[in-house]
Order: sequence, then C-alpha cells, then structure tokens
Amino acid sequence: MNKENETDVTPSNFIREVVKDDIASNKWEGRVHTRFPPEPNGFLHIGHAKSICLNFGLADEFGGQCNLRFDDTNPTKEEDVYVQSIIEDVKWLGFDWGDKIYYTSDYFAQLYDWAVQLIKADVAYVEDLSADEIREHRGTPTQAGKDSPFRNRSVEENLDLFERMKNGEFADGAKVLRAKIDMASGNLNMRDPVLYRIIKAHHHRTGDTWCIYPMYDFAHGQSDSIETITHSICTLEFEDHRPLYDWIIDTLDVYHPQQIEFARLNLAYTLLSKRKLLQLVEEKHVAGWDDPRMPTISGLRRRGYTPESIRDFCERIGVAKANSTVEMALLEHCLREDLNKRALRLMAVLRPLKVVLVNYPEGQVEELDSPNNPEDPEAGSRKIPFSRELYIEQEDFMEDAPKKFFRLAPGKEVRLKSAYIIKCEEVIKDSSGNITELRCTYDPDSKSGGATAGRKIKGTLHWVSAQHAKSAEVRMYSHLFTKENPADDKESSDLKSALNPESLEILKDCKVEPALAEAQPGDRFQFLRMGYFCADAKNYLSTAPVFNRAVTLRDTWAKIAKKGS
Ligand code: ATP
Ligand code: MG
Repeated sequence: MNKENETDVTPSNFIREVVKDDIASNKWEGRVHTRFPPEPNGFLHIGHAKSICLNFGLADEFGGQCNLRFDDTNPTKEEDVYVQSIIEDVKWLGFDWGDKIYYTSDYFAQLYDWAVQLIKADVAYVEDLSADEIREHRGTPTQAGKDSPFRNRSVEENLDLFERMKNGEFADGAKVLRAKIDMASGNLNMRDPVLYRIIKAHHHRTGDTWCIYPMYDFAHGQSDSIETITHSICTLEFEDHRPLYDWIIDTLDVYHPQQIEFARLNLAYTLLSKRKLLQLVEEKHVAGWDDPRMPTISGLRRRGYTPESIRDFCERIGVAKANSTVEMALLEHCLREDLNKRALRLMAVLRPLKVVLVNYPEGQVEELDSPNNPEDPEAGSRKIPFSRELYIEQEDFMEDAPKKFFRLAPGKEVRLKSAYIIKCEEVIKDSSGNITELRCTYDPDSKSGGATAGRKIKGTLHWVSAQHAKSAEVRMYSHLFTKENPADDKESSDLKSALNPESLEILKDCKVEPALAEAQPGDRFQFLRMGYFCADAKNYLSTAPVFNRAVTLRDTWAKIAKKGS
C-alpha cells in the first residue's frame, strides 16, 4: 500500500468518481457546482442530511460551491417557518453556502418566458381536460396514452390562453400547460407532462404576484441551468424523469447540467417522509417537529446528537445506486462513539433510593475528586460532595438478589464511584412493604489513598449526596415505531397503529450532582452507567432542568428486533 492510500481515509462513492473523472477530462472546465434543493414544506430529516453531506461535501472536497436552493413552487404547502428551520439545520450540520440563498421563486419570470418559448415552438399547449381526464388519457406502462382533444390548438390560441392563465382569468384546475412530447412514449413522464398549473394562493415570498406555478419537472432543471450547476444530484425516483429534464433543457437550448441519481436513505423503525412526519405533528402523536423522537435534524439535535455524529453516519452509509434500509443501531453507534470521546461523566440518579450511612458523622461533608472523562485526560477532575445521606438507583438494590447480582443487597458490599465501600445492614419499608431507605455502614479507609482502597469489590454504583443533589426531570426515549418499516404498513394512513406507546417515559424526581445545575441548554453528558443525556433546549427555564436521554451506553436494538419478530 502506498502512502497516499494509507492517509486517504474517506471511502469513495460512485458520484465522487464521476466528479473526479469530470475534473480529469475538464468537462465543466474543472468546476464542481452542486446544490441542495429542499422544498420548504416541512423540517429536514436524516435522509436530507445524507443529501446535504453529499452535495456540500463534494463541493468542499473539490474546491467547488454548493447552493442552498429552496424549491418553493407550491404555495399551498410551503411556509417561511420551514425556510428558517432548513437554514438553521444546514448551518448546524456545519455547511456553508456563501452569501446568497437561492429560491426557485426568484426565477418565476424567467420560467414563464421559457414556457412561452416552448409554446411558440409549438411544443407546449394549454390543456382544458381535468386532472382525472388527463390521468385517463395517460395510458399505462404497457398501453400508449391518447392525445388530448386540445393538443392541436394553434400557437396563437395557446399564447393567449397561457397569458390569461397568468392573469388569473381561470379557476384553479381549469387549465394547465403541458409539453407536447409523445403520448405513446414508453416513459410515462414523457407523455405530455404538465408544466404549469393554476394555484390561487399566497406565496411566502412572491405574495400574490403569481397565480400559475411551475411543476417540479419544469422548475428544477431550469433552476439548475440558471445557477450553472454541474452535477445535479437527486434521489433514485427521479431517474425516470431524467429524459424529461434533458428534453426541456435541450429544447430551450440552455446550459445543460448533468443529473445523477442515488439511493435515498431508509432507516429502520422510522419514517423519512415530510408528509408523514407532518401527519405525526398535526395529529399530535409527537410534541412537534423537534420532538426528540423525531428523525428530523431538529429532533436529533434536541435529543443530543452532534453534527459530527450525523456527518460520520452519512459518510459510513455511503452512496449507492440501489435502495436499502439502514439500521438505527448504526446512527446511535456514531453518536455513542463521538460522545464517548468528549462528554463529561457525571452522576445522576434517575429513580432515587435513600441510603443512610449510620457510621458516617452527622453534619460532615467531604469533597471527593472524580475524573471528568477517563477517555480524555485533559478534561481534568471535579469535586463532588459526599455526606451521610445519599441516593442510589432503585434498580441497584435487590432484597432477594441472585448470586450474580453484583450490586447492593442485604449484607453485601459495593463501591460507590470515586468514594467509599458501603455495606447494606438494614432495609426500611413503609406500611405497604415498599422499600423506603437502606441503612448502610461505610468503610472509612476505603476511599482513594486509604488503607483498604484496593479491596476487591465487584460492583461500583453511582450516587449523589442527598443534601447537595439538585432535582431534575429526565426524559427517556425509545423507538417511535414498533414496526421496522412503518411506511410499508397497509393501513399506513393510520400511523397510530405502528406507534410505540412506550416511546417516552418522563422521570420527574431525579437527583443529579450539583454541577449539573449549571448545564446550559444543549450541553451533553454521560450520566455514569445510565447513558448519554442532553440538557433540553426548550425547557431549561422551567424550575428543574430537563435532560433528554440521547442514547443508551450499549446497543439495545437486538433486543427490540427480537421483541418485534
Ligand atoms: P420527502 O419525501 O421527505 O418530502 P423530498 O425528496 O420530497 O422528501 P425535498 O425537500 O424535495 O424532499 O428534498 C430535498 C433533497 O433531499 C432532494 O434532493 C432529495 O432527493 C433529498 N432527499 C430527500 N429525502 C431523502 C432521503 N431519504 N435520502 C437521501 N436524500 C433525500
Ligand atoms: Mg419533494
């Protein structure tokens, strides 16, 4: 292996190879100019992150440019809040588009002129058939379509009608503009596709200037052309649209980018469709687009994902020509790996059980040293208060413990992290038999540096000092869907049946070590033994801080898959 290969850690993909070849052959004068073209009709999801990393990543890698372009051609579905959220998400992922944001709506006048040009060339006509009739005339993949009775309107009549469409003389759906290509084409997209439709709705940027709007197929390629895009990268479902993309650009005789398709990301146990995610929001199955259970970028951010972990995920899944489904475990693995390197380790008791150390002096408080991150020596250490009354995790005590339970049980010993060895002497219960408190003794010589510090004890527990601990709320999340592919569900209109009723558990009485009271929204931590958590970005002003569990310490997906099968 030569030196160059050793240092080239980026796995390649077929689009990168196309770009490299084009640079080598000087196809675009060596330029690389991509774009990310979201429709502002919802928040971005992890599938979009794949496209963002690909488009911006290629531009970065080859010294090119990537445009952020809003494909805003449907005023009934699009809103400025979505524009703003998309801007925020792309920035947060770590990408930069220069000074200018592009909007397809900025090209409406040019697109209109091009439509007129097609009419004049007698390759476009105004159609009076209804949407249903157009569908009936379209034929099937095995059967040719039928020409519309309006197909042979004169150029003059078409120009007049199209102008009157623009002037608002006709109702929504009364007329459309179609390309005149071939109703017998083997490709349904070439059977006189619709180019323009009437929508009398207020547009978030152009207001009421327009009442006709270009279809995706008429807007997209021409926008690419205007921006002199070199590689127009889109998902596989547009492969059959490529002949139309090429036809329109060639017929208009304008700059011609190359469309390249790749497989979209599918992720198990979730949905990657803005339409369906909107349904979850509107039907209130989740608390909003940024609910930490959502596969949206804003949801993942609030959950505790880092931009680095998402970019790493997008690099690892690669770019292919064939559709496949990626396991959620991989996404979580990328986050765990990233946070393992940099998250501070702190102690939080999620379901507290009181422990009283009967031989510890009343009123005494010690400040014990605990490392902030054993993976990162530079992270240093901090002081944590220790006193006579502590909390440990309820699940760390068992009255009738099996042999292999290496936590606390009557007569057994455990080590408290960065503190002493304790022994359970007595279990206190309330009148209904619930355990309310443990009476323990501690070994005063067992802390770091003490005579018995080296004693071999199997279990080490996390804890907090009762008197010093702060209260917190912790939200535990698990998979939102019980089905591996909820989108495939026959009754998919009813998302409810595929939802996991236990996807959110709220723990209101958690006790966290004092340092966590200063957590800033968005700060991420490892709560020792409990997982990685993120200070919630929305609820930080409420009385007690709220922490979202980002990910467990170990992969739990094998268990979930087994349960589901
Ligand atoms: P959705 O079905 O979620 O609405 P979309 O493709 O309609 O997705 P757009 O806003 O049009 O959403 O997408 C912007 C870009 O992101 C497009 O280039 C699209 O191909 C890409 N994209 C969307 N979903 C995915 C995905 N799951 N994997 C990879 N790329 C995607
Ligand atoms: Mg779309």
